[in-house]
Amino acid sequence: MHFFNYKGNKLYAEGVPIERIVKKVGTPCYVYSKKTLVRHYHAFDDAFRDVPHLICYSVKANSNIAVLKTFIKQGSGVDIVSGGELFRALKAGVNPKKVVYSGVGKREDEIEYALKTGVLMFNVESPEELRAINNIAKRLKKKAGFAIRVNPDVEPKTHPYISTGLKKNKFGIETNQAIREYIYAKNNLKNLVPIGVDCHIGSQITQLTPFVNAIKKTSDIIENLRNEGIDIKYLDMGGGLGITYDKEAPPHPGKYGKAVIDETKKLGITLIFEPGRVMAGNAGILVTRVLYTKKGTQKNFIIVDAAMNDLARPSLYGSYHAIKPVKKSNSKKEITVDVVGPICESGDFFAKDRELPVFKSGDLMAIMSAGAYGFSMSSNYNSRPRAAEVMVDGNKFFIIRERESYKDLIKGESF
Ligand SMILES: *Cc1c(COP(=O)(O)O)cnc(C)c1O
Repeated sequence: MHFFNYKGNKLYAEGVPIERIVKKVGTPCYVYSKKTLVRHYHAFDDAFRDVPHLICYSVKANSNIAVLKTFIKQGSGVDIVSGGELFRALKAGVNPKKVVYSGVGKREDEIEYALKTGVLMFNVESPEELRAINNIAKRLKKKAGFAIRVNPDVEPKTHPYISTGLKKNKFGIETNQAIREYIYAKNNLKNLVPIGVDCHIGSQITQLTPFVNAIKKTSDIIENLRNEGIDIKYLDMGGGLGITYDKEAPPHPGKYGKAVIDETKKLGITLIFEPGRVMAGNAGILVTRVLYTKKGTQKNFIIVDAAMNDLARPSLYGSYHAIKPVKKSNSKKEITVDVVGPICESGDFFAKDRELPVFKSGDLMAIMSAGAYGFSMSSNYNSRPRAAEVMVDGNKFFIIRERESYKDLIKGESF
């Protein structure tokens, strides 16, 4: 559910016509709907209103500080994976006690920054990291709350690049070893406090079974640890709930909530969630202008002014994004086209062999469901300044990140 709809033949974000935004900021630009972000947060939060829980929005999905602030104002914490994300979240006003720090390769300076900030817990991904955090905490005379990210070895049935809870993945620690590490930490690593168990099995998961399987495994671990006298207060379920890009039918957060609560209520535990995509994905679009159309011998191409540097998902995962005209024409005619960007790579596409209405040079196009892993994955490849970002709130819109300039491109370079 989102607030990008047609009024007459024109596409709007909430109360603002997309054409009006483009007139002011140009293309390509990302447009987010605040109402959609807020709605998604509460849909998720409401699903757990009957149990103690904390939502830690996954910053990497969309890291703009206006987006972070929108969630934080609703009561959200954050899940971070770098010192840079911690910096952003603090700028946006997050309560440090609502920060969980994930990631397979935390650097010493990042751990120190997080300890000084006083984050709620570190989600630890290796025995060496556990010892490193203890050493740094000792040097700083601090105690670090931690959870071990367990690798439950469950099949999330998603794209291999975004599966993270299988034995062959680089993430987490295998369950039996995790238990041994908790016990070792309890006896030997005095600047650590075991407070949670964490798992995150992947992203764009559209079924409940993988989550339920993961909970069963983590619940066993929690019971084991409690028998060892290790008091686990938090079960961090990670993120991963999928959204509809095309024809996927992921469970509504309410259904996900019910399944999770049914499986965990006997534990008497505070649940932590790290949703990213389900919060931001359908709350943003990428608006681009058609530069040229071209009839090849085998294919028709629409060449637009956005590219894989702006939205990498199609190139990276072959992902589907719906494509809509910003202004609908009266003609019902459709043709089969590839929508491609200007970058010198054949992987630079937004759609392949797609049935679309007829676009001509100068027309505006909306690439839907681009709010998560869109701008946050963008780059300057081909020395393309990164796109502007805009937040719509009712009948108003705000530039929340200016389009980069050529000067920005060479910032810090010298010869
Ligand atoms: C990416 C990530 C998330 C968010 O995943 P979504 O699929 O966007 O919900 C949560 N936790 C961790 C550890 C992650 O790496």
